[in-house]
Amino acid sequence: MDIHEYQAKDLLKQFGVAVPRGGIAYSPEQAVYRCSELSGDKWVVKAQIHSGARGKAGGVRICASEEEVQEAAQWMLGRRLVTHQTGPQGKLVNRLYIEEATNIAQELYLAFVMDRTLERVVVVASAQGGMEIEEISENEPDSIIRSVVDPAVGMQAFQAREIAFQLGLDAPLISQASKTIMGCYELMSQKDAAMVEINPLVVTTGNEIVALDGKLSFDENALFRHPGISELRDKSQEDPRETYAGDRGLNYIGLDGKIGCIVNGAGLAMATLDMIKMAGGEPANFLDVGGGASPERVLMSFKAVLNDKNVEAILVNIFAGINRCDWIAEGVIRAVKELDIKMPLVVRLSGTNVEEGQKLLAESGLNITTANTLAEAANKVVHQWKAADLKEAV
Ligand code: GDP
Ligand code: MN
Repeated sequence: MDIHEYQAKDLLKQFGVAVPRGGIAYSPEQAVYRCSELSGDKWVVKAQIHSGARGKAGGVRICASEEEVQEAAQWMLGRRLVTHQTGPQGKLVNRLYIEEATNIAQELYLAFVMDRTLERVVVVASAQGGMEIEEISENEPDSIIRSVVDPAVGMQAFQAREIAFQLGLDAPLISQASKTIMGCYELMSQKDAAMVEINPLVVTTGNEIVALDGKLSFDENALFRHPGISELRDKSQEDPRETYAGDRGLNYIGLDGKIGCIVNGAGLAMATLDMIKMAGGEPANFLDVGGGASPERVLMSFKAVLNDKNVEAILVNIFAGINRCDWIAEGVIRAVKELDIKMPLVVRLSGTNVEEGQKLLAESGLNITTANTLAEAANKVVHQWKAADLKEAV
């Protein structure tokens, strides 16, 4: 789960990391009011969306007057900002963070990520901040510092100082930098963060180390331990299809295609996506109904799949072990009747109670295509989807 920059900065501050003063605003008037609260003569208006690279998309504006703040806020609020991380639909800006502007002497990069191979937290740092890590690794690969944290002892002060030295910081800045590094690590481990990224971490002209940006993402499986963090969730930043399915306990990931998928098991669901692609189609989603799915749960899965208005055909692929094909068939039949499904629907059942399941489908009198293997099912659904599309086109 991602959170907003202002929420990340609030947490970073609690762990001893210096951040600029700022306040949140939901309207241009509030944005201007924040300026008078902060005083000073230069402010930064920052769009709060769950994405980096906002600067390039117009989502970060340095302003030298209240009129400029008002104008920047007006422009950003209600706009969908498109960055290379948001996808073409962009993300809606409905809150702004207004900060006192910082005078930058140097921009650094600092991140804490989980290295799955090492099974350790790794600190990634560079004295060439400001650009994205992908660009740094392309343009300045030698500037990247990596430091692995031993989980038995956590981040040690000497290790943090070593990173600060490697960043080439002046002696008076070393203790501030190592305090920042220690603070980020403590935040990551105490709050079960999956990633902490500060880009840029800056040295100000006044020789202070300040986190100018903050990106935090949390391990969703650990959120139950951190009610304060779960409250920071902003559903308006998530894919509405995923929110709908997630609220109903379904394991769903939205994709860009037209063929909706209802499958049991994550591995089979992935294989199904591949088979649809190989057959010449594009899947609309990943959906794992799980084990022992009741007819109600199957019906719910259909609702989640059809909640995506791009879906034009559906493939149900069940390899039943703990599941029961007769329950799945019951759910499919209820879905077709209750949701009045007219689009092509292909069902492949295999495993526990398969005869009962197939019998239910056959006797339902509904327009449901069955298949025996995954390949056959994928070919049929793509074929029918194309045929239906052609009919409409004529
Ligand atoms: P991002 O584009 O989403 O990563 O947003 P950032 O918060 O990182 O801001 C983008 C860039 O704007 C930073 O890399 C800085 O160069 C610049 N910037 C942001 N805040 C300030 C500020 O207070 N003063 C100055 N001079 N530049 C800033
Ligand atoms: Mn940034």
